[in-house]
Amino acid sequence: MAKIGFIGVGHMGGPMASNLVCAGHDVKVFDLSPALVRAIADKGAIPAVDSADAVKDVDVVITMLPAGPHVRNVYLDTVLKHAGDSTLLIDCSTIDVATARDVEAEAGKQGFLMLDAPVSGGVAGAEAGTLTFMVGGEPAAFERAKPYLEVMGKTLVHCGGAGTGQAAKICNNMMLGIQMISVAEAFVLAEKLGLDHQKLFDVASTASGQCWSLTSYCPVPGPVPGSPANRGYQPGFATAMMLKDLRLSQEASQKVGAETELGRHAAELYRKFAESGKELTDFSGIIEMIRGGRK
Ligand code: NAD
Repeated sequence: MAKIGFIGVGHMGGPMASNLVCAGHDVKVFDLSPALVRAIADKGAIPAVDSADAVKDVDVVITMLPAGPHVRNVYLDTVLKHAGDSTLLIDCSTIDVATARDVEAEAGKQGFLMLDAPVSGGVAGAEAGTLTFMVGGEPAAFERAKPYLEVMGKTLVHCGGAGTGQAAKICNNMMLGIQMISVAEAFVLAEKLGLDHQKLFDVASTASGQCWSLTSYCPVPGPVPGSPANRGYQPGFATAMMLKDLRLSQEASQKVGAETELGRHAAELYRKFAESGKELTDFSGIIEMIRGGRK
């Protein structure tokens, strides 16, 4: 069993670290919130006094932090200074591609193997150990990481070199954000045309309009009983998270000169929805704004 240093044990990192503990690994945890560290320690993790302590004498470091600046600071200020040079570094946060590549390049210069390994699957997937990992970095690092990622996830895809895990994450979520708006617009139009929700679902779910936002996450109550629409749009996947990922995709598009017009428009619509007090509402709740848009 390995010694693992885990930094950032919030909504996602907490259950991911717990699963590593349950698999028998020695997991040292650190978070800026002492209460979160205590909660994981109660499940068998070793509390670290700070992030330097968390990464000393471990085989693997895993981080699950809010955004790019946190990842840059934690790695450049602490991890690269205090971890042993054979330690494998895995950042699972969702961050911008440029920061992921910069930090991985710096780690590489100092002799570390490092991966970007953002996830999809949400808190439920983190708890169940069924996350999808999209992984960027050297093949040798991916092979070393597999036994740990397999404890926390069900599907592992090695996407290519540094930053390609983050690229896969933001491209996927840009598709998702756009798709949800398209499905919501179709249901709102159907309502105005006197077409029943279930009838539109029955047709589109077996026709060419079929997509995940319709068949697994339908934004109206009824057709997909497990979707957030059936519980007042409690997340699920909060609008603030969707907005974060769409902003990352738009920053990336600007940097590399990609034409992502619908992604830009989707980001703008989710921004408006978030600013109407719906940041913590599931992103599929955007149908309510679309419905209210034109009387
Ligand atoms: P969270 O805010 O619950 O957890 C992040 C944790 O990092 C917090 O507990 C915070 O205290 C800690 N932290 C911040 N700076 C730190 C530092 N310098 N040292 C130690 N700890 C520090 O967020 P989350 O929902 O767990 O998301 C984490 C990452 O996973 C984000 O990048 C998010 O975009 C991504 N993600 C989240 C979900 C989701 O459904 N929540 C799904 C997929 C991906």
